[in-house]
Amino acid sequence: MPESPKSAKRPLRSLITGGAGFVGSHLCERLIAEGHEVICIDNLLTGRRENISQLIDHPRFVFIEHDVTRPIDVPQLRSRTDGRLNPGNHLDYVLHLASPASPKDYARHPIHTLKVGGLGTYHALGVAKAYQSAFLIASTSEVYGDPEINPQNEGYWGHVNPIGPRSCYDEAKRFAEAITMAYHRQHGVRVRIARIFNTYGERMRLDDGRVLPNFIPQALEGRPLTVYGDGRQTRSCCYVSDLVDGLYRLLVSNETGPINLGNPEEVTILELARKVIEQTGSSSTIVFEPLPVDDPMQRRPDITKAQTLLGWTPKVALTEGLAKAVSYFKDKLHETGASRPVAAH
Ligand code: NAD
Ligand code: UDP
Repeated sequence: MPESPKSAKRPLRSLITGGAGFVGSHLCERLIAEGHEVICIDNLLTGRRENISQLIDHPRFVFIEHDVTRPIDVPQLRSRTDGRLNPGNHLDYVLHLASPASPKDYARHPIHTLKVGGLGTYHALGVAKAYQSAFLIASTSEVYGDPEINPQNEGYWGHVNPIGPRSCYDEAKRFAEAITMAYHRQHGVRVRIARIFNTYGERMRLDDGRVLPNFIPQALEGRPLTVYGDGRQTRSCCYVSDLVDGLYRLLVSNETGPINLGNPEEVTILELARKVIEQTGSSSTIVFEPLPVDDPMQRRPDITKAQTLLGWTPKVALTEGLAKAVSYFKDKLHETGASRPVAAH
């Protein structure tokens, strides 16, 4: 029988899937900073070892390379972690973040995306059930699809094309939310559903394909910024430190959710391109390319629930976050030697 979390004085223990990814690696750091023991599981499909290299020797951190579309072997998990972590069968939290998240990534891996949202969530829930852990799922604003209301609140059921090119991601996350609620209702698993809106910052890959990892290097290298469509579609961009704080607050709360986590500062993509050009002092121009199929026209979170239930409000304004992101991508371009002369200031 798993120990009750309250039965002994010991560090809290968390298992996080997708922990070597962009958001997951920041969350691993936060969990370690909060004193948790952290078991990070990742198959490195879109994540990287270097994201967790600073944690790898930490006595409260264990990395297991594993594909969570395959069963997570609970006894094996126990024996593989016991060498490193304090003995005991307990697992207080399971956080399921594993999934390609960039449209470019899930277009490359549509079946895997469905499998990790479906089978991966099922396996992670199985662990939470076996260990009586609280379970957090990283869901997405994509469950709202191309929304007919703006801002989007959690009561909105969404407007998703079930067979379009984005459906592998959107429907996988909708299934993930559904099975999470089924485990809650049928097995009493304590669950928390986070609906994450566009997040950016340090550790995004140069080839990530999402809007800021495209725009910022383009501006830094003096290449044209590729705006898809006419750029009138909107997004609301949240800096990663704010998101991680929201996720942590939700994790340790008793809120089932779903709860939107995002920064309500909404901009059009054309405005975003201009802001990046201004921030980098680049001489880049803007080119217009075709709008991807089913690209949502508007996205802005209603964060009333997060504010009232979690006391959470994002602190990093877009201009401040962009400055941090620009500095990160500058270093990244330098490191990889991919940098052509940086645009004149
Ligand atoms: P990411 O691609 O950087 O991270 C995902 C991680 O999951 C990677 O490390 C990848 O290797 C891992 N992974 C994928 N399939 C796996 C599998 N089968 N087994 C084990 N590991 C696997 O993406 P991210 O931006 O850090 O997103 C993290 C989570 O947050 C995702 O679930 C995503 O859907 C959700 N989310 C992110 C955003 C955002 O703007 N970043 C927005 C909404 C939702
Ligand atoms: N986008 C763009 N140029 C790019 C990359 C993305 O205009 O080089 C647009 C994309 O069409 C979408 C928005 O930026 O309208 C955000 O795209 P992203 O891939 O970051 O995430 P999404 O919100 O679509 O999941």
